[in-house]
Amino acid sequence: MSREAYQVPSMGGQNAFAEGGSGMAVDSPAVVYICGHCASRVSLRRSEHIRCKECGHRVLYKERTKRMVQFEAR
Ligand SMILES: [Zn+2]
Repeated sequence: MSREAYQVPSMGGQNAFAEGGSGMAVDSPAVVYICGHCASRVSLRRSEHIRCKECGHRVLYKERTKRMVQFEAR
């Protein structure tokens, strides 16, 4: 009887969850932006243009960063 055998770290399982958890291939992770005009959340990939999908505004703020990062398309 060994209790240690019960607590086996499952690093492989964790990785498998991250890989196939969403059920779709993720080549470029989507970043959530906040629209500077209508303040709606817009998730964009790096390959996509910075533009609000709701109102079409082109000034979006990155949500994750604490400092305000402004993207302005000219
Ligand atoms: Zn907007």
